[in-house]
Amino acid sequence: MLVRLMYASRAVDSIDHDALLAILRKSKANNPERGVTGVLCFSGGIFLQVLEGGRAGINELYNRIVGDPRHTDVMLLSYEEVGERRFAGWSMGQVNVGRLNPALLLKYSEKAVLDPYAVSGRVSMALLDELVATASIMGQS
Ligand code: FAD
Repeated sequence: MLVRLMYASRAVDSIDHDALLAILRKSKANNPERGVTGVLCFSGGIFLQVLEGGRAGINELYNRIVGDPRHTDVMLLSYEEVGERRFAGWSMGQVNVGRLNPALLLKYSEKAVLDPYAVSGRVSMALLDELVATASIMGQS
């Protein structure tokens, strides 16, 4: 059975580009053997991540991620059983923040900033869907 989980969190101050790359590298190394796919967006000190895969595996991974000291304020935005994956092509795709169009952010929120804490989970998922549609996700597995 497949599930899709989405959460937001705030990076601790020490997270820089290299630390982000280390998280992505670890994700791409671990996720394929666990059948996990998804995307990770990092902008303005905020993470937005979608994880897809088997129910037990996604729950185990999410609990591990929640305990990771590299971020805080982890907020579960959505969790659902699904019939198919949305991000099957990515062991952990990375949103190309440089291509984050302010108009796209404004379409879904009050200000042109990524703030999943201020919008519904449905809105954050719609934003990620558009990023996939506009080829703004890198790191095809
Ligand atoms: P190791 O990498 O050997 O780590 C052992 C322990 O050390 C773990 O408790 C780990 O959390 C901790 N650790 C490792 N590096 C650091 C560091 N630089 N600073 C502090 N503690 C550290 N992991 C995935 O497998 N898939 C994902 O999709 C994924 N997404 C993530 C998204 C975010 C926003 C964050 C912050 C982390 C994510 N992680 C992901 C990492 C996850 O939290 C675990 O660190 C990782 O899965 C542990 O991998 P491992 O079992 O190979 O242990």
